[in-house]
Amino acid sequence: MLDLANSLPNATHQFVHPFTQLAEVEASGPTVLVAGEGVRVTDRDGRELLDGFAGLWCVNIGYGRIEVVEAARQQMSKLPYASSFFGFANEPALRLAEELVRLSPESLQHVFFTLGGSDAVDSTLKIIRYFFNVTSRPEKKHVIGLERGYHGVSSAGAGLTGLSNCHLFFDLPLPYQHHIPSHYRYRSTYGSTDAEIINGSIDALQAKVAELGGSSKVAAFFCEPVQGSGGVIVPPEGWLAAMRDACAKLDILFVVDEVITGFGRTGQLFACDWERVEPDLMTIAKGLTSGYSPMGAVLLSDEIYRALVKQVPRDLPFAHGFTYTGHPVSAAVALACLEIYEREQLPENAKVVGAHLLKGLEALRENPWIGDVRGKGLLAAIELVANQKTRAPFEPGLGVSQLVRKKAYENGLIVRAFADNIIGLAPPLIVSEDDVDQMLERLARAIHAAK
Ligand code: PLP
Repeated sequence: MLDLANSLPNATHQFVHPFTQLAEVEASGPTVLVAGEGVRVTDRDGRELLDGFAGLWCVNIGYGRIEVVEAARQQMSKLPYASSFFGFANEPALRLAEELVRLSPESLQHVFFTLGGSDAVDSTLKIIRYFFNVTSRPEKKHVIGLERGYHGVSSAGAGLTGLSNCHLFFDLPLPYQHHIPSHYRYRSTYGSTDAEIINGSIDALQAKVAELGGSSKVAAFFCEPVQGSGGVIVPPEGWLAAMRDACAKLDILFVVDEVITGFGRTGQLFACDWERVEPDLMTIAKGLTSGYSPMGAVLLSDEIYRALVKQVPRDLPFAHGFTYTGHPVSAAVALACLEIYEREQLPENAKVVGAHLLKGLEALRENPWIGDVRGKGLLAAIELVANQKTRAPFEPGLGVSQLVRKKAYENGLIVRAFADNIIGLAPPLIVSEDDVDQMLERLARAIHAAK
């Protein structure tokens, strides 16, 4: 008989963990979280932890928000599922599409729903192909991303991702996918001033387009407004708007991946809002439902949408979409989250408390391991180095940051360890300055213990 109530599952080899050293988790077992409230979670051993990473930078509204649970319950009782194929729809998904068009940059007028960020990026790549094929520009095939960019793990999106560990053994990137250097100031290939980084990025984009045969061969440029999984790399002010303009001049589409930055994380509802950037396409996920239910989306310009409507030949459907496109329960959850973002002014809280977090991280610089401190809103990182003065890195890989992450956990704090010894912090947007002070105290203790 199955004893579900009393057995403690470990599934050390049955459950295949994403982005995990599999041999290690087979040996040690998983870290199992069982409950959450506000900015805190509890693990199976009863340890309470401050969640300094909002799950996977997604639980923006914090844990235990009963009104979101209630919205899901009501929708599940009323209509748990409705297809969006063949012209069917459901009310929450339609309302959510209207809300997202209202809230997002003016250029974005239409919404295609997905289940998360990876399939939003993948759908974007397919929609771009479709767009240029049906508008008689089938040679516009190449796409360009940034080194250290992250655009999920779909077969195509993982190639667009500019992190070599996502390519290794997967035969990626694909032949039509290319990268230019990141705007990474701390280890810059362009120089250290804002102007050098911005002009360097534009020059690199122009050079890459020329190398690929010119604008007639290149479809799009993709970027995150702040690079997340590449190590929280914040571009100089003006960079996003400058790249948008450069793409317009080059006649290539400008795609912004706001999967992390969307829904308040950087201090505006969308990071594009900081510089009034109007992209051609935008991908969103994570904060859309705050992790309470899976959902993502692609937001499209009217020009692109009109091309889909006016497809050739006219009597064929737009043959793309998922069983769960526009899922009513996720849409109801997203609507409840949007209400919370607006009512509790969470983007503003991210701005104010984010500034406090950054100041606190700056104060940790007296520790010689801390080489760089960076962030925007409640999206921040420190880069640990062997030598603060020369910026000499530790051995490449996850060694030191992984150790700090483990020590942080022992001290009651969840942080993210990135490659190149970067530690990321992205707490729920409801976090208070007091919570942040506690997080900083625990992080300082963890770094000290790791030495
Ligand atoms: N794009 C960005 C910028 C992301 O950070 C992520 C995930 O972290 C994705 C896409 C992929 O999203 P998902 O993990 O929901 O597939």
